[in-house]
Amino acid sequence: PQHQVPDYLSGLNPEQRLAVETTEGPVLVLAGAGTGKTRVLTTRIAHILASGRAYPSQILAVTFTNKAAREMKQRIGVLVGEAVEGMPWLGTFHSIGVKILRRHAELAGLRSDFTILDTDDVIRLIKQLIQAEGLDDKRWPARQFAQMIDGWKNKGLGPSEIAEGDARAFGNGKGRELYRAYQERLTTLNACDFGDLLCHPIRIFRNHPDVLKEYHRRFKYILVDEYQDTNTAQYMWLRLLAQRPSADSGPINICCVGDDDQSIYGWRGAEVDNILRFDKDFPGATVVRLERNYRSTAHILGAASHLIAHNEGRLGKTLFTEKPNADDSKVMVHAAWDSEEEARAVGEEIEAAQRNTKHNLNDMAILVRASFQMREFEDRFVTLGLNYRVIGGPRFYERQEIRDAMAYFRVVAQGADDLAFERIVNVPKRGLGEAAIRQVHDTSRALRIPMLEAAAQLAESDEMKPKPRAALRQVAANFARWKELLDNTPHTELAEIILDESGYTAMWKNDKSADAPTRLENLKELIRSMEDYESLRSFLEHVALVMDAEQNEDLDAVNIMTLHSAKGLEFDTVFLPGWEEGLFPHQRSLDEGGRSGLEEERRLAYVGLTRAKKNLHIWFTSNRRIHGLWQSTLPSRFLEELPEAHVEVAESGSGYGGYGDRQSGRSPYGASRFDNVGSSGGSSFSNAYATPGWQRAQANRTEATDRNWGSRSGHSVERIGYGEV
Ligand code: ATP
Ligand code: MG
Repeated sequence: PQHQVPDYLSGLNPEQRLAVETTEGPVLVLAGAGTGKTRVLTTRIAHILASGRAYPSQILAVTFTNKAAREMKQRIGVLVGEAVEGMPWLGTFHSIGVKILRRHAELAGLRSDFTILDTDDVIRLIKQLIQAEGLDDKRWPARQFAQMIDGWKNKGLGPSEIAEGDARAFGNGKGRELYRAYQERLTTLNACDFGDLLCHPIRIFRNHPDVLKEYHRRFKYILVDEYQDTNTAQYMWLRLLAQRPSADSGPINICCVGDDDQSIYGWRGAEVDNILRFDKDFPGATVVRLERNYRSTAHILGAASHLIAHNEGRLGKTLFTEKPNADDSKVMVHAAWDSEEEARAVGEEIEAAQRNTKHNLNDMAILVRASFQMREFEDRFVTLGLNYRVIGGPRFYERQEIRDAMAYFRVVAQGADDLAFERIVNVPKRGLGEAAIRQVHDTSRALRIPMLEAAAQLAESDEMKPKPRAALRQVAANFARWKELLDNTPHTELAEIILDESGYTAMWKNDKSADAPTRLENLKELIRSMEDYESLRSFLEHVALVMDAEQNEDLDAVNIMTLHSAKGLEFDTVFLPGWEEGLFPHQRSLDEGGRSGLEEERRLAYVGLTRAKKNLHIWFTSNRRIHGLWQSTLPSRFLEELPEAHVEVAESGSGYGGYGDRQSGRSPYGASRFDNVGSSGGSSFSNAYATPGWQRAQANRTEATDRNWGSRSGHSVERIGYGEV
């Protein structure tokens, strides 16, 4: 037959096919969870390639995480039936941004070997600037300013563009000066932060139309997943690339897919409006809606749809599934006395599933609201000997010994990397006190040279005391030698040489603390992991960019992650612990008072529920221990919002029964559920809420942890997603 439908199209429903086959012109797929949006994008790329409409290098495709990019690449290969060469422009906003910036670094005042600073580096740098301004860095915390800068960059605002009020709000009115000084310092360091990976290209595109034109010619097709969570900078970047002057080009072939109900990064500057005004930005857009959910059972879908219907600010959509209902289990709600018992019970549930149904651990996930909740599960699983991996959590590359080693490598690869130099100049201890380091600093600043060069100069002058001078001479000589080895020694070998000759390995070998052996193992693992990369530079880039931890990727292991990093993923069995007021919805969203914070929490709950294919277990505890004090808790209002038809309250097992008696003589879940039937559940909750009690403490604590999470995984999540590189 002449018009045989290619295999990759035959499995799609008509709406999906429309979205795939409408290759020319703007297309928006606006549809609920599990309806195949990501699958449409993947198939669309396969279709474009298979039909010869474009080469892989002419397709710009933005995914939410690096992992998603890899999976997409692989799937395209399967669909097209051969390994896809390249797809060099398939990645996250940041990984594509860094690529563009490397090609035009000089237009942003950088060299192409610039360093990407992580949050720690950024905070240290800002702290120095705050002190240099003569400001008290306790009153004006660097971390806070780092967040402000991040916020500005999410909006694409440079120092001269930020609002006057914002500029005044920090550092005795010196916000703008500090921001400017920060950018200047980055330029001197030949470095940029994550926000710059998009902001620099935006500015380059605006100021150099010839460069932008080059990309207009290059990208024939643009595709974006999770469009509902793009922030303003990402949106500006996309528009610059997509809105070609019509005179010299054909239609704008941009296809964005997303779900307004899954917009969960508002707190980080995401603008759900971007998706809602797509057809204004791209007139004549084909808007496709998908309603069939292929992922979840009817119970799970029913529960999720009912919950999200409580949000007012939404477009609203219907979802249906054709999955048979009869044998499916309902959404299970379980109560536990405290988080320890919660972890124990979840562990039992997992082991039972493994035993009875031969469930793979890989197919199960625990999704938490705040990262501190993970520890309990990690502890428990270690005890049980149950494999687990933390996705987007504290990661290997963020351990102290790994960061130290990386700092050495960074200085060897890029001598102007002062932050890295400072980190290790006296690690291991070489008798370089604060005064000596300050001297290096001052020389560096006075002569406008990197600290490493300043150190080398000081080592040859007699301005310094003999002992630190000898130490600096050694350091400078070491780096000079390693640098010479850089181009002609295998990089893994060089890495070992550096760690040995610097005395860094010996430092841990001589260390008597309990964790020293682990650290040595980690360093070995670091060298091993470098083998996968061609050069030290490409490895450093990889580490700077990869933000989702793929621990034990090959091992069968339970997945633990935050709800935020679970977006787009699916698992047979999902556990959602900690559904308690103050934790979920998070206290912060409730403190905001308005509707929007709570609605974003509810969308997060919707994301959580819709990750499950077959089994869904929700937990709440009646007590949490906060700062050593027991506090009693209330079940989350979201539990009340689940439809009874699809939910079953689990009988308390022997291990975790009796909590109700200890408290009020009733099951807290039952109590709150029935107390609120027919009355205004909301107000009874808010009354209960008027007693701040532990929730306040809890909020403080989760907030602190969240921030932590922001700088670790979270810059993963923060950087993940659209933030992730
Ligand atoms: P989310 O909003 O959570 O990102 P999504 O809309 O991107 O979800 P996908 O992840 O693309 O949904 O698809 C959900 C599941 O349904 C996947 O397992 C996918 O393979 C499957 N699926 C999608 N379309 C079809 C189809 N036409 N036939 C069979 N399975 C499908
Ligand atoms: Mg998806």
